[in-house]
Amino acid sequence: MNKVHGNKIAIYIFIVFAIVAVAVAGYMLYDGTSDTREKSEIQADPTIYSCPDCNVVFISIDTLSAKHLGCYGYFRNTTPFIDELSAESLLFKNAYTNSPNTMISHASIITSHSPLSHGAIVPYGRHDGKPIPYGVKTMAEYYQENGFNTFGLTAHPGWLNNEYGFSRGMNEFLAIDENAEEHNKIVFKWLDTNNSSKFFLFLHYYDVHSDFKDFPYVTYTKYDEAFTNEYSGSFTGCYNGSCASDYLAQLDRGVVPPLVTEDINYLTARYDGQIPYVDEQIKQLIEKLNAVGVYDKTLIVITADHGEELAEHGGYLHNKIYEEIAHVPLIMHFPNGIGRTEDALVESLDILPTVLDFSDINYSDVQGTSLIRGEIPAKKIYSGYCFSGQTCPTLSVRNETTTVYSKDLKSFGVYSRVDDIGEHNNLIAEYLPPKHYADEFRGYIDEQLELNRKIEDSSVLVKASNETIEKLKKLGYVT
Ligand SMILES: [Zn+2]
Repeated sequence: MNKVHGNKIAIYIFIVFAIVAVAVAGYMLYDGTSDTREKSEIQADPTIYSCPDCNVVFISIDTLSAKHLGCYGYFRNTTPFIDELSAESLLFKNAYTNSPNTMISHASIITSHSPLSHGAIVPYGRHDGKPIPYGVKTMAEYYQENGFNTFGLTAHPGWLNNEYGFSRGMNEFLAIDENAEEHNKIVFKWLDTNNSSKFFLFLHYYDVHSDFKDFPYVTYTKYDEAFTNEYSGSFTGCYNGSCASDYLAQLDRGVVPPLVTEDINYLTARYDGQIPYVDEQIKQLIEKLNAVGVYDKTLIVITADHGEELAEHGGYLHNKIYEEIAHVPLIMHFPNGIGRTEDALVESLDILPTVLDFSDINYSDVQGTSLIRGEIPAKKIYSGYCFSGQTCPTLSVRNETTTVYSKDLKSFGVYSRVDDIGEHNNLIAEYLPPKHYADEFRGYIDEQLELNRKIEDSSVLVKASNETIEKLKKLGYVT
């Protein structure tokens, strides 16, 4: 609760179209019978993953690191329901976000443009914010144009809002600083009256994200202490008057004494305790889809905008772009319920073309690759903290075997994805000289900035208020 900068609840309601002309005569009911063909046959047959008249429910769980889910091999039972669902889903084992920032990452997800290419950003440092440019189309716009009833509900009124373009293409849009339970109440009500024509639902849950008030990770439910048994330390979530995310930001910057291992383990257990709370809410959402009779004709996508660091690289929150922050869950439950695990390296940019292909909607100008049209090509995946029109203080690039990490394009790390997936053992001395990597990253940045220049941008700059800048400074986002 009150996770968005401790502001009192702010609600933005944008009913873009009050009434949608619902002209769909009826669903072409999807054949829900299980498919008995071999996996290779299924992959080769694009129609398996196609249903133009099915609904799409897109779920983004903010700050959910892939490695903390049971279905991604975690040792704790954090996601009993999602694990069950994933067994009948297409689960991407190696999905990576393109940015560790909530707004920038979501902008990439819904446009299939890299952070530097779409250029959307919240106010940082001396720079004003910039919404998603009109030169790129959002996921909801595609669905709206194709006759879907569209509804968006985000839990971050400060960033994922109308101002930054997240309501574009939404027949109805709400940005509410509330927990998943409250969000579900709204969604369930919406589903009660909007289940007879095809729809696109965009849901953003913020409960796993660190809190801004009392304790770094808290849902105020039974789940908070679900994994914290035997802790006898003194970590209270505060230090010298700084609490919750503010304290973690100070720890991240190294300006307060570091936590001891026992405290880090406790903090991690508290982070893990946020996850079953959301898992339970997603279970209820799926039950609701069933209750209103649309589950069997709905694609359900579950992903995250970024993960979270819990001291793996000496820091906290999500400012860097190492594995624990870059690696995100990506699970797609198709109406036919076929379960399959995909090992290929994929990225957030791939989500838009994939869901549009499923819905048989034509698209253009995307940077991602559809993941349901035959073999997924091997590629390099760039993830970074990039600033519109400028540079990337942290930037990484991954292929199947290697991760290269850049800090300010000055210092570099090279890590083996074969035997060092956590990215701890820097092999730069055994690889190419730093200039090689600097040139490669610079080439990528220049290429993306050039794409951005080509995008028609009639957007208006969003000025940062002094209050916003102060809050961002406290969290370490602004120096
Ligand atoms: Zn986020």
